[in-house]
Amino acid sequence: MLVYFTRQCLVAFLFVDLLGLGQVGSAQEEATRPNIVFVFSDDHALQAIGAYGSKINETPNLDRLASQGLVFDRSYCANSICGPSRACILTGLHSHLNGFRRNGDRFDGSQWVFPRALQQTGYQTALLGKWHLETDPTGFDYWQVLPDQGHYYNPDFLMMDGSRQRVPGYCTDLITDASLKWLDQRDQSKPFLLMCQHKAPHRNWSPHPRHFGKYKLGTVPAPESLRDDYSGRSRVLQESEMTIKDHFYWGHDAKFHGPNEFPDHFRDGIPNGEYQRMSPEQKAAWDAYYQPENEAFLTKMRAGELSADDILVWKHQRYMHDYLGSVQAVDDSVGRVLEYLEANNLTKNTIVVYSSDQGFYLGEHGWYDKRWMFEESLRMPLIVKWPDHIAPGTRSNALVQNIDYAPTFLAAAGVKIPEQVQGTSLLPVFAGGGAIPANWRDAIYYAYYESDSVHEVAIHDGVRTDRYKLMFFQRTNEWNLFDLVTDPNEMKSVHDDPQYRSILRGMQQRYRDLRGFYQVNSATIPVTRGDEAWWKQRDREKTALGKQQAHDLVFIGDSITQGWEEEGKAMWDQHFANVPSLNLGFSGDRTEHVLWRLRRGQMGISKPRAAVIMIGTNNTGHRMQPPLETAAGVSEIIGLVQQQSPATKIVLLGVFPRGETAFDPMRLNNVALNQSLSRLDDGEKVFYRDLSSLFVKEDGTLPREIMPDLLHLNEAGYQVWAEALVPILRELEVYP
Ligand code: CA
Repeated sequence: MLVYFTRQCLVAFLFVDLLGLGQVGSAQEEATRPNIVFVFSDDHALQAIGAYGSKINETPNLDRLASQGLVFDRSYCANSICGPSRACILTGLHSHLNGFRRNGDRFDGSQWVFPRALQQTGYQTALLGKWHLETDPTGFDYWQVLPDQGHYYNPDFLMMDGSRQRVPGYCTDLITDASLKWLDQRDQSKPFLLMCQHKAPHRNWSPHPRHFGKYKLGTVPAPESLRDDYSGRSRVLQESEMTIKDHFYWGHDAKFHGPNEFPDHFRDGIPNGEYQRMSPEQKAAWDAYYQPENEAFLTKMRAGELSADDILVWKHQRYMHDYLGSVQAVDDSVGRVLEYLEANNLTKNTIVVYSSDQGFYLGEHGWYDKRWMFEESLRMPLIVKWPDHIAPGTRSNALVQNIDYAPTFLAAAGVKIPEQVQGTSLLPVFAGGGAIPANWRDAIYYAYYESDSVHEVAIHDGVRTDRYKLMFFQRTNEWNLFDLVTDPNEMKSVHDDPQYRSILRGMQQRYRDLRGFYQVNSATIPVTRGDEAWWKQRDREKTALGKQQAHDLVFIGDSITQGWEEEGKAMWDQHFANVPSLNLGFSGDRTEHVLWRLRRGQMGISKPRAAVIMIGTNNTGHRMQPPLETAAGVSEIIGLVQQQSPATKIVLLGVFPRGETAFDPMRLNNVALNQSLSRLDDGEKVFYRDLSSLFVKEDGTLPREIMPDLLHLNEAGYQVWAEALVPILRELEVYP
């Protein structure tokens, strides 16, 4: 029974949703609701899947699944890293809305997640394997998960009763065993959702002995861009730390024991933790394979026989042996799941999905790891088999994303898709034999937030269409544009090529519009600048100060506030040194950085009498962010201060005027921002004050004698500011 309904162009199997929860009526309908088996791996690149044209390995079981179903060739993640991708899948929301933007965040399991929606309509739900969202899973009848990243050898599992159990064996096999056991023990009268989520082939890529030597050293071809020099694109590329050449660890990655003999070529500091977990028998099997290869390499190294390039190639080969070996067990797992379904007569009415949380670099651009918006890690494998609904051997070029999984599963189960879900059901793609449906999306939005962590990949976001990819790098305020037809390896940005001028403009417009569509307001999304050394240092110092001592006055802002420590120091000493005052001004900060700092507790133990806030000119300025977006960021800052210290009086200062004349676009942006900020004055706790008139001459120009660069104050400017601010503070009775 196919019933179509139109809601954001969704087409779904709808089994009469009488109660609004999607409850299913008759036993007959119950019997026809499809089971869902979601086999999900971690970091499995498309380059290492036969059905996606792998030139380096064989995946017979995945290929069998693909031949029986639909292969999505343009399937992408919304944020290329483990935890965030999982959160996108569970919620159908982009990271900034589901709240899990970076690893280390804690997933709010009380929000809507698709497994609970299925559970509430009669599905049995189970999750086995990698989770990585910090909080306990919700929406599952049964779960058994790896703590954090988990381990390949003799892994620990967190159980529903709170216990932690170490299970001897190999992780990928154990997760498959547990999944099939759960299937055996389930209530056979109900449809089920099984999420079988592997750790493999995540770093540190530790294969099972049955796959040792399957991809021998010297047999795996290197990608064309292994020796990428990162020219012709943003300089932030060179700053990341995930190259095989320079960031490959002696123990963890290269699998050597003992001290690092060649620190010029291998990094120190992370031993092979998997080896340490192994039983004596496992260690013996491991060493029997690895030791001869390691010794052969080290003998040549000690003799000085290998060039830098030889060493790079060897490292890539070792990486591929281990990575592809780890993939092989995942392929075995898919085979076992398919066989189980066949043996138990479950094939016909079960949707089998294979995916991985993101793609991965297998030496492309010289890298391992993921994170970047380049194709290898932006893409996700997505293979779906559903007999009678998907023709065998189908492929699709529709642009799809991991936020689409939740609505797809709901639609397949006949459950109503909540309004807030941002993804789109893929059922129309299934129904159309893979053809791109009418009114399908023309572009996907991507955002990465984890800049100050391992691998040092800069914050960036962007848009990918059928042919082009636009990336924006926040820190350097740079665009990169790639033409994926003429430059499929993304080796040269054409953003400054005159021939691409109109395409750049069009893509920038699409970027802005898509951010609007997905409710992305960067002014309200807390992000760190911890990848800038001075900022990180200042952040540490200020946070320490906040913990040491309670302050009566806290100044929150950007360079203009920070300037009290420089050009304004004499004025500060004269007016604010007599009360405990804390300067939380950070040069170049936008509202989103202040949000990050305050959320991390930078006000410390203070419950200040007053907080003086002036922020936003770096949003409205060279970024030219719309004033209403910036005002929303300021509003959230006020909310955070109030949350932390409800009694604090907030002196919200209008952003100072800037630019040459009254009609400077940045000036006008600040005028509009101030208009919005004035509305935040509640006469009780928030007091808006606009001091702009003190800095503007009658003809609308700014006096260079107090604002030399037409943005920042000099000492005379700080005097004007101090002498205006002190009476305001006195009036509010927060200053002696
Ligand atoms: Ca991952």
